[in-house]
Amino acid sequence: MNNHIKELIKKLGKKKVRTEEEYLITHSFDAMRKKFPPEVVVFPETTEDIVKIVNISSKHDIPVTVRGAGTGQTGGALPVKGGILISFTKMDKILEINTTSGTAIVEPGVITYNLQKEVEKTGLFYPPDPASLKTSTIGGNVAENAGGPRCFKYGVTKNYVLGLEAVLMNGEIIKTGGKTIKNVVGYNLTDLLTGSEGTLAIITKIILKLIPKPESRAVARIGFENLSDAVEGVTKIITHGLFPSALEFMDKTAIEEVNSVFPFNYPEQTKAFLILEFDGIKEEIKAQLLKLTNLFSNEKITEIITADKEEDMEKTWEIRRNISGAISKSNLIKVNEDIVVPRDKLVDTVGFVYSLGKDFGIKTIQFGHIADGNIHTNFMITREQQKIIRTVLTKLFEFVVKSGGVLSGEHGIGIAKKPYIPLQLSKTEIELQKNIKKLFDPKNLLNPDKIF
Ligand SMILES: Cc1cc2nc3c(=O)[nH]c(=O)nc-3n(C[C@H](O)[C@H](O)[C@H](O)COP(=O)(O)OP(=O)(O)OC[C@H]3O[C@@H](n4cnc5c(N)ncnc54)[C@H](O)[C@@H]3O)c2cc1C
Repeated sequence: MNNHIKELIKKLGKKKVRTEEEYLITHSFDAMRKKFPPEVVVFPETTEDIVKIVNISSKHDIPVTVRGAGTGQTGGALPVKGGILISFTKMDKILEINTTSGTAIVEPGVITYNLQKEVEKTGLFYPPDPASLKTSTIGGNVAENAGGPRCFKYGVTKNYVLGLEAVLMNGEIIKTGGKTIKNVVGYNLTDLLTGSEGTLAIITKIILKLIPKPESRAVARIGFENLSDAVEGVTKIITHGLFPSALEFMDKTAIEEVNSVFPFNYPEQTKAFLILEFDGIKEEIKAQLLKLTNLFSNEKITEIITADKEEDMEKTWEIRRNISGAISKSNLIKVNEDIVVPRDKLVDTVGFVYSLGKDFGIKTIQFGHIADGNIHTNFMITREQQKIIRTVLTKLFEFVVKSGGVLSGEHGIGIAKKPYIPLQLSKTEIELQKNIKKLFDPKNLLNPDKIF
């Protein structure tokens, strides 16, 4: 047994340090589906345990990678250089929900959905809602700055992170931010660590902002005869005084994929869905739904369904949430991108993706948080097409950047999008970011080979 593993066992106890094959295999992949087994998986229970792990990593020059639930789409939690993998499954406590300050303090391993349910019992609300919320952790959400359908109205994870406790690679514990909404003391390290993909420091506690829970909500699903009408419908909705908390899009292939695995009813001639949620005061929601129905009454739509019962709303959202699961059952290989463009470029972008797919003979599936300009663009490829996918993605990203957009809205860079970073950032900008990494992690041991 290697010295660093012996030392981990000595300092943490055998129960927290696992080298059995079943642990190594089950911690070797995430939703990107590449495999990189670690040498050892460690299950810390306290911040002090993390400090011990980091000190051993530094002393023996062993890479260390952090993992929440492993739902990341870009390989962020993969131990690409082997070494130590830290799993946060045992640091999953909600330490405090304070209704007076409107804050929660949590350990990183808390499942997002579980936190939301506990918070809602108090009359407060934690809005960020990645579609993976029933499995992903708050730590992973913070490290990826996760978004979700509700982010159109409520913003992304970073808008709710007030403060952090984190362990640096020199073994020191830092605290950034705090419970206050306002804080302009020095640089904003909370924002720097949020979205840093586990490459700068290991987050051990998170202070979150909570807001009042909306009294009520309702959902609407609109089917369109033409794809472009659906995309243009977004502007129509927003410029007519409607403010949905979520506004999602599914193209025909996304609808068909879900329907083939989780059947549901919809008019055959539907080419795209918009799914909307409204929240707030009951009467206001009713008025918004009425306005929405009137707004589309003269359009080429195939259906407009509204729901305000929990069960019916859930059924509509399940259709949207089931897309990834349905696509994963395909025999083709899914290459999943999450580009963002300014909303005035949405129609062109969705069209560009179709023509790109057509030109290269690749099936495409598009869906996502359209009101944010964030489209999940999936290329479904055969083994042979793996050779050309880099060319396809380069063309996609060049188009996106030229349109004033970005390579990734929420999934991060990880290892998946690393080759394309120079399409977005200049040499100077990359150098500046690399220097930040060096400052936090001079020996490049924390989640090495990610982003750059
Ligand atoms: C079906 C499906 C739907 C999804 N939908 C969405 C969506 O709507 N919106 C969205 O944003 N994402 C979505 N994702 C992507 C993914 O769920 C998110 O990126 C999520 O935030 C990852 O959380 P996790 O706990 O699984 O983290 P992991 O995948 O385990 O890790 C992700 C990154 O966080 C780092 N990390 C984890 N914990 C810590 C910590 N304590 N300190 C420092 N770094 C840490 C890891 O090192 C890694 O780089 C989806 C994924 C799937 C599979």
